[in-house]
Amino acid sequence: MVEIYDTTLRDGAQSKDIYFSLQDKLRIALKLDEFGIQYIEGGWPGSNPKDQEFFKAVKQYSFKHSVITAFGSTRRKDLPPDKDPNLQAILESGVEVATIFGKAWDLHVTKVLKTSLEQNLDMVYSSITYLREHGLKVIFDAEHFFDGYKANPEYALSVLRVAEEAGAQVLVLCDTNGGTLPHEIYKIVKMIKDKMKVLLGIHCHNDCGMAVANSIQAVLAGAVHVQGTINGFGERCGNADLCQIIPTLELKLGISTSQLGVERLRRLRELSQYVYELAGIHPNSYQPFVGDNAFAHKGGVHVDAVLKVPQAYEHIDPSLIGNQRVFSVSELSGKANILAKAREFHLPLSSEDREVLNSIVRKVKELENQGYHLENADATLFLLMTKEMGLYQEFFKVIYCRMTSESRDGEFIADSAVKLKIGDQYVYDIAEGNGPVHAEDLALRKALSAFFPEIKDVELVNYRVSIADVAAGTASAVRVFIEFSDGERSWRTVGVSTNILEASKVALIDGYDYYLQLKRNPKLRGITASREV
Ligand SMILES: [Zn+2]
Repeated sequence: MVEIYDTTLRDGAQSKDIYFSLQDKLRIALKLDEFGIQYIEGGWPGSNPKDQEFFKAVKQYSFKHSVITAFGSTRRKDLPPDKDPNLQAILESGVEVATIFGKAWDLHVTKVLKTSLEQNLDMVYSSITYLREHGLKVIFDAEHFFDGYKANPEYALSVLRVAEEAGAQVLVLCDTNGGTLPHEIYKIVKMIKDKMKVLLGIHCHNDCGMAVANSIQAVLAGAVHVQGTINGFGERCGNADLCQIIPTLELKLGISTSQLGVERLRRLRELSQYVYELAGIHPNSYQPFVGDNAFAHKGGVHVDAVLKVPQAYEHIDPSLIGNQRVFSVSELSGKANILAKAREFHLPLSSEDREVLNSIVRKVKELENQGYHLENADATLFLLMTKEMGLYQEFFKVIYCRMTSESRDGEFIADSAVKLKIGDQYVYDIAEGNGPVHAEDLALRKALSAFFPEIKDVELVNYRVSIADVAAGTASAVRVFIEFSDGERSWRTVGVSTNILEASKVALIDGYDYYLQLKRNPKLRGITASREV
């Protein structure tokens, strides 16, 4: 078994775009515990008050599977351990396990710390023994170990020896600058493994895009403790991504990483999404294993093959890590893609329904000729398909929709008026917004929610405009994508027009229409065409 040490809350939070509040940190810690991660590095109590708060607050919770650790450096060169504020802060944090880092590269000792090699060894030794004397277990992070080993192997080794003698329970070899290559990691870890009795760990950064590969190489060479972050968040190019390391170890190499067993991996995508959400970062669709596109098939040949045998273009069954197979509809598409899409949407369509199938394919091609990209707009495609299949129910009709924007004395005003027919009634509403699309959304939402209160749960989460590459000779058209969410799922629509307001209107109306189909259309009960968020 390999133990997993998560440092999302400390190294991950050092990433340029990330800010975690205290509440965020607590919620992430609880989620990691639920997922069965052995160690959660809560922060660096000696470096900032927010991390100190975390260690106070976290005591109110009981953790079933995880141990919370505090991070810090070895003592300062001019202070004994009992006077060192960093080490004191670790003791005060109340943790049972501390992770302290020390220099393993002679260059850092002499040029950055500006102290002697001997003195640095004593700083490592005395800091670890001090924490041990106070009843703590110590994990030692040998910072810049690989660069240090390449520059001066005897010294790098002597740092490890001193840490081992002082009673560290794990020696973590760090590729702090992320510049070491997989074959070097393997060779060096293997060599160290033969010289040390204590457990070895690995901590990699991703500056060459090798952090995951390097971590795996270290395990193959004998490391039994892997540090990383969820989604690879971290300084510069990030840390090793645990969302890739964990499934690689478990599903590819058969190496267990938690007592909770391999079943828990079905919640891996959920864990990844959860951390993205709290970090306020848009998920990386191309992330291996857990990304939206990790099992998305677009090319007709691929789709056809995957429908026959999934392994044809999938390295694992996506459900093992809680992801799903997605089929895209594109210009390459034919009936096979539409059938695959129907299956994904749980719509009852089979190759026997030739007429319906042909008319859907024809409609899709027509729209694509106009510049629609349906592969990113499942809700638009869903509406098209249900209409052709006779499953669609009309809940409202837009009689007219007007949007205006004008600037007056340097001030800019946008408003919108909509008239809808709902059943046999007419509804008229107006709204002002910070732009014409916003005004229209507000007017539509007001008019609809009088009849369909659930519309209030819907939020616009993304709005994107691009130039539609329509057939030559046509005036330039724009394509508007809108993403909606009701907190539980998200869906996307697309509109195309030479007029950006018209394109937005189409995408907006479809977005609300789609939601009402899911919520209210009895013929579509139990259909889940959208991704959970
Ligand atoms: Zn690091």
